[in-house]
Amino acid sequence: MHIRVPSFREIAKQFKVIFLDSYGVLKNHKGLIDGVSDTIQFLREEGIELRVLTNDASRSQQQQSEVFDRLGLKNLKVDEIITSGMLAKQFLSHKIKSGKIAYLGTENSAEYILQSGLEHIAVRDIDLENLDEISAFVFLDDEGFDWNTDIDTTVNFLRRKTVPVIVANSDKYYPVNKNDVSVATGGIAKLCESMLNKKFIHFGKPDTQMFNYAFEHINHDAFKYTKDDILMVGDTLSTDILGGNKFGLKTMLVLTGNTRSDNADLWINSSGIIPDYICNSILA
Ligand SMILES: [Mg+2]
Repeated sequence: MHIRVPSFREIAKQFKVIFLDSYGVLKNHKGLIDGVSDTIQFLREEGIELRVLTNDASRSQQQQSEVFDRLGLKNLKVDEIITSGMLAKQFLSHKIKSGKIAYLGTENSAEYILQSGLEHIAVRDIDLENLDEISAFVFLDDEGFDWNTDIDTTVNFLRRKTVPVIVANSDKYYPVNKNDVSVATGGIAKLCESMLNKKFIHFGKPDTQMFNYAFEHINHDAFKYTKDDILMVGDTLSTDILGGNKFGLKTMLVLTGNTRSDNADLWINSSGIIPDYICNSILA
């Protein structure tokens, strides 16, 4: 059963590695969450390894790192950031060897994810009467397209042609202020899956590829850490906590993002997704 704990740091000291979600843990719609830099510094001083596991596929690792830097979080290293976009990119470069990759999203995300040498084509440029060359489809991002026309084109494309479909960010929505959310790529993909009765290939939490990647990454030089050494910290039950639990890690829900204090218990009970710990934030 989950326990409410007053101090993230006290729990963190019992682990050798902390996996941190980004949005809702390190930052929110206003920017960096105050005091996060001190917590990262604390982890460094304690000799605790950390990795940031984010479902954001709109920016490359390097661009993510620059954003943290600009927000004032200077002490994160580029290779400590693991994004669902990196995994989608890896998958595409291994699996799709010919043809064009169609995408829903921004040019920028397309450029870094699809730089495998293959040509890419935005949904708006798809000619539904001529689909021969398209060999895969990627849901990248919730910006960079016309919601009125391009989602229809996506659905019609997927009705006409069977190709691997990749969802680079499975998040259904993300908070934009204290009360409201915006629909994210995962939400659009979910809509298409349910309308078309198809199953796409999802990257990002709660799917295990990102946890696997992070686990291999920390054990790259030598097999130093077991799953018992790792704590996964996140603000979302259905991604961070479910993913961490499935991978066999201890999990901590924090209340600085998607899950608020007054509905945490209700959501845990109704979803059946149970964190090992609940803590207000990672700040104390
Ligand atoms: Mg989050």
